[in-house]
This record gives sequence, structure tokens and C-alpha cells, in this order.
Amino acid sequence: MTIQVKNINKRFGDFVALNNISLDFPQGELTALLGPSGCGKTTLLRCIAGLEHPDSGQVLLDGQDASDRHVRERQVGFVFQHYALFKHMTVFENVAFGLRVKKRSERPSEEQIRRKVKDLLELVQLDWLADRYPPQLSGGQRQRIALARALAVEPRVLLLDEPFGALDAKVRKELRRWLRRLHDELHVTSIFVTHDQEEALEVADQVVLMNKGNVEQIGAPDEVYNHPASPFVYGFLGNVNMFHGRVQDGVLASGEASFAVPGQPEAAGKGTAYVRPHELDVDRYTPGAEGIVVKLRRAHAIGPLAQLDLERGDNAELIEAVIPNERFSSLDLKEGETLVVRPKRLRVFVDEGASI
Ligand code: ATP
Repeated sequence: MTIQVKNINKRFGDFVALNNISLDFPQGELTALLGPSGCGKTTLLRCIAGLEHPDSGQVLLDGQDASDRHVRERQVGFVFQHYALFKHMTVFENVAFGLRVKKRSERPSEEQIRRKVKDLLELVQLDWLADRYPPQLSGGQRQRIALARALAVEPRVLLLDEPFGALDAKVRKELRRWLRRLHDELHVTSIFVTHDQEEALEVADQVVLMNKGNVEQIGAPDEVYNHPASPFVYGFLGNVNMFHGRVQDGVLASGEASFAVPGQPEAAGKGTAYVRPHELDVDRYTPGAEGIVVKLRRAHAIGPLAQLDLERGDNAELIEAVIPNERFSSLDLKEGETLVVRPKRLRVFVDEGASI
């Protein structure tokens, strides 16, 4: 099923939770709604599900306006962060639940239910837990059972609200890989809410970045990571260094350093260059060297990469660089040493978000 939302607005009193949101969720894709707490992710998910009604705008399911369709008629499956499985029912009965409460005319036979639940438990690789009760499961197992239960009614859309939010980092990592594999097998159009950028970038086909009820950017993971559309996206997706200065004639002057700014040479005004730590070249300082002069405060090498904490200028503004460990070893740097850094790649935004 394809999902489109068109010009959706939602207020709670004076508070604007969703500000004229329009988005497409293509058939069979896994989309992550990503953003800080309170940006409207859950509200948008609830509008799509029919649990919340937008003040204006439309939700289209397979191109049809779903405004008058009740939650049950939208054929959506849900998994929430704290999905309350029925504690007094076995895993088997929990997964069978949605099938048993179907209208008599649509209800499968006992034999069909048994086979279906068995298949689903095999799909989530927990068939060996069929006779257990939820309190006897780990958090990760519970979420997989919650997913099997959501899938039992063959939803055409799967909505996951921070499904792994309550789990520890290692289990989260395992489960998100597992979710991706499961999605590749089933191809159900799925939307999952997360505030974890790594999770969104690793799992999703497309990422929707939300901020204060607005969509800041939508795109494939590598696109939003490598080509952020706004300072907010830059800051939200990974670490970034900011060099403030003035742009004129295609050059940003920041302190003693200046950088060529690609594109729109006519842009002028106060601006900020955004550079990711791995986009900085680091070298020993030599008099007259071009770039930003810094001091090495701390360096630590982990695996193939070395992270350098650098200080710039009198107010010791912190700059972070990540370079290959081989390069770090060959430079043989000492803490306190003077270095020079140069952006290999940068993006400048002039004033409030105007990209140049
Ligand atoms: P989180 O990651 O913390 O779950 P979120 O991005 O999912 O955040 P929402 O749950 O969509 O955010 O909430 C968006 C904003 O709307 C929040 O500021 C929240 O307080 C507010 N809000 C949500 N539901 C209601 C409600 N029923 N009544 C009043 N305000 C609400």
C-alpha cells in the first residue's frame, strides 16, 4: 500500500504539533521518521493510523482519502515502545489474538490459526517460545513477539513507534538488523519512529527528518547524511564542526583562515561553514601554511581511526577531526603540538539556513 499525507496540520491548543506536512511513503519501503523529542513524529504516525485526526489535510492510502476510515479499516499493524502483550496469555495466544477476534465470517479455522502462528513465530525466529508467558521473555524477545502479533492480521502497513526504544544498545543493534531482514522478506510498507540517527540511517530506505512540526529533509540515508539541507540536519546527523565568518566573492573568511565556497559566488553576508570531523585534513604546522591553525589537545586511536580533539584560537574553540590511524601514526603527533587543518569538503549556510 502507498501512503501519502497532504498538507496535514495538527494543533494541541496553541501548540503546532504538525505544520503543513506533505510526504510520500512508497509501496514496500521502510521509512524512518527521525527527529528530536517532541518534533511531532508520533503525532504524524497516529494521524496515518487513524488514532488522531488532523485539523486539516489528508491521508491517502493507495491514493484513496482515508479520512473517514476507522483505524480497523486502514489495515495497519502497530508496534509500540512498550507494547503490552497480554501477560496472562502464552506467546502463541498473543500472536493468535488478532485472528481470533476477527468477525466470524473472516475468522480462520483453528487449524489455519495454528499454522499461521507457527509460521509467524518461525519468521521472528522464536517458535521455541510458543508456550511461554510474556514475563518469561527478554525485552528483545517481547518486541519480536509484538511484531509477530502485528503481522498476524496481514497488515498492508506496519507502523512502529520507537519499537526498540526501551532496549539496551546491543540488543537494539541486533534487532534493527533483524527488522531490516524481515522487511526485505515481507515488503510491507513500513514507517518507524526513532530519535536515534544511527538506527534511521542503518535501517531505512528513506529518512524523514522532522523538527518542531516541520519536515526539514527527506531522502535516502546517504543523501541526508552527505547532503544535509539545513544546519539543523547537519547538527542532528552526526558530529559537525562549525566555522563562523563572512562570505564574500565566493570565499568565507573565518578568523585568519579563508575557504572557497562552491556555488553561488554572488552570495554575501554572515555565514557558517559546516565540516564533518572526517572531512578535515590534518597536518603539522609550517609557517605560512594555509588552513586553520589549531593545537592538539587530545588524541585517541580506536581501531582504524584516530579521533583528534583540537583547539582553535584564544578562546580554545573545540574542533574535532577523525583521520585514518595510519595517517595519525605516520604524523607521530604529541599533545600540545600546533597543527593546521583544512576542510576537504564543506557546506556554507548564510544567515538563517539560506544555503549557498
Ligand atoms: P518523542 O520522541 O518524545 O515521542 P515525538 O516527536 O513523537 O516525541 P509527539 O509525541 O508527536 O512528539 O508530540 C509532539 C508535540 O505535541 C509534543 O510537544 C507533545 O507534548 C505534544 N502533544 C502530543 N500529543 C498531545 C496531546 N494529546 N495533547 C497535547 N499536546 C500533545
